[in-house]
Amino acid sequence: MFNVIFFGPPAAGKGTQAKIIEQKYGLKQLSTGDMLRAQVAEGTELGKQAKAIMDSGKLVSDEIVIGMIADSMDKASKAKGFIFDGFPRTHAQAQALDNMLKERGQQINMVLELQVDDKALLARIEKRAKEEGRSDDTVDAMKVRLEQYRKYSADVLPYYQKQDIVFGIDGMRPVDEVTLQIEAILAEDITA
Ligand code: AMP
Repeated sequence: MFNVIFFGPPAAGKGTQAKIIEQKYGLKQLSTGDMLRAQVAEGTELGKQAKAIMDSGKLVSDEIVIGMIADSMDKASKAKGFIFDGFPRTHAQAQALDNMLKERGQQINMVLELQVDDKALLARIEKRAKEEGRSDDTVDAMKVRLEQYRKYSADVLPYYQKQDIVFGIDGMRPVDEVTLQIEAILAEDITA
């Protein structure tokens, strides 16, 4: 089993790259943002609670996202491993993830940090707002999301840096070049 976290600010390309890598390596992408948007679209109680928080750019509770991740891991037991996309975002989530993996005899093997500067992120968000119509892709929400990201990356990255498993990826490059960088790093480790 091989478990990797795709880490990076909103619109860094985590989802795009996760979908490409998922197909090539038989890993299962688990995106808490996608799961929450599905709940909102279905109009569930959880979705109703989460929507206002998501639209403001703030984080939903640890309890909610940890529960969703636990359920999805149970359902995807046939995967060769997981790509965690947008999770964990707090220290508590990182610890809960470690515990869930430990119970399954697994661990986080690698954290890939997609690095993109703020100016490029804002330009991508404006483009995505037009293409996908996501209700949190607004300039105001984006400012909050970037602030939150700075806070939570300071909270979560050191947790993995201590384990020496964080690798930086230049996320400013075109999509296929970013994929090549990711594959070069994965290749060193994924067969182990
Ligand atoms: P994303 O698609 O990953 O940018 O997530 C969209 C929104 O969903 C975030 O701005 C948060 O409100 C919420 N969200 C997604 N993942 C998490 C998480 N791991 N912890 C807390 N909130 C999350």
